[in-house]
Amino acid sequence: MKQVYMDYAATTPVKKEVLDAMLPYFSEQYGNPSSLYAIGTKGKEAVAKARKQVADLIGAEPEEIFFTASGSEADNWALKEGAASRKESGNHLITTVIEHHAILHTCEKLEEDGYEVTYLGVGTDGRVDPEDFRKAITDKTILASVMFANNEVGSIQPIKELAAIAKEKGVLFHTDAVQALGNVPINVKEMDVDMMSFSAHKIYGPKGVGALYIRKGVEIPNFLHGGGQEGGHRAGTENVPGIVGFGMAAELAMKNLDDHCKMTASLRDYFIEQVQANIEDVEVNGSMEHRLPGNANLLFHYIEGEALLLFLDVKGVYASSGSACSSSTYAPSHVLTAIGLPLEKVYSSLRFSIGDFTSKEDIDYVVEQLKDIVSKLRSFSPYSRKCNEDSCNCRVKDTCKRKKN
Ligand SMILES: *Cc1c(COP(=O)(O)O)cnc(C)c1O
Repeated sequence: MKQVYMDYAATTPVKKEVLDAMLPYFSEQYGNPSSLYAIGTKGKEAVAKARKQVADLIGAEPEEIFFTASGSEADNWALKEGAASRKESGNHLITTVIEHHAILHTCEKLEEDGYEVTYLGVGTDGRVDPEDFRKAITDKTILASVMFANNEVGSIQPIKELAAIAKEKGVLFHTDAVQALGNVPINVKEMDVDMMSFSAHKIYGPKGVGALYIRKGVEIPNFLHGGGQEGGHRAGTENVPGIVGFGMAAELAMKNLDDHCKMTASLRDYFIEQVQANIEDVEVNGSMEHRLPGNANLLFHYIEGEALLLFLDVKGVYASSGSACSSSTYAPSHVLTAIGLPLEKVYSSLRFSIGDFTSKEDIDYVVEQLKDIVSKLRSFSPYSRKCNEDSCNCRVKDTCKRKKN
């Protein structure tokens, strides 16, 4: 059976070039980078090369990149230690309601520890208003964290503007750029942010590797204590194959950035156009402006998204109902709620994300499947207006607004 992966925002497959670069570091060049003999030195050199590859992708210096075990660890480090480093100056933090849980749950922990957190709302386009940000800053504000691009609706924030306001007010500024990396041009010098988080597995690298960029001159205490790895800033024997894979993925992302963005955006637009041409009552959540190129978050009226997801799975199509974290709990997406959708629309929405291995044939197949499944589900739905007299299977026939044809 055909399988179409449309969940690149959840994770991506490791590219062949990435895997090839990683393989020697498992069983041949397995030395500990801290050792002084040859195979150790090889590992150390490989980590140094990867650090430069990641730094180059975001216009940073290699010494400003610190490898971690995940994007989540980078977010935890930035927030917990960024706040601790400024606690003499205040206890107020600012973030947004649409952050990834790696930020939101860390903020909740910081609130338990006595910090105060302002959660900024967003517009229907999923973006923060810089003026709201400015107004939220008080003389107690020490740290702000606003995600670069959202994982559910794909909205891209005005990071440069926000970072400039933070700088003017003397507030430390962090951004979770896990979704933006490889999908949006990033230059940390131009944007002037203090800290930025990344994860390898969202850019065709391996899982279990991330990085935190810390601008030179910004002192952030260590999060993990132990050995002197990462220039003494992050303990733990380096995940050499993982880091090498991250480096190669970053190099490829840099080389392919333009083509990748054009290709994914045009397939995404084709997908949306085909869905809307073939299925009635489908809307795009969020705004098409300032949006990640591969993101299509669609609202299928009168349908339960979870049911649609399961039927798609049977047909080999993999999408997501909101975020991966919420899909096991069936809690409504905090992001779709934040952009103003009422609950029934939240539950009728699915995220399709497109990446480097998506083809036009894949899209055509998905649209065909969607067409069938949506019409089947709507024929069952008591809320559907799309049933007709002959084939109506409505459980609540009285409330069904029948459509005459
Ligand atoms: C995936 C993701 C993370 C978490 O990264 P991990 O490496 O999976 O821990 C953080 N923030 C955003 C926006 C993400 O999409």
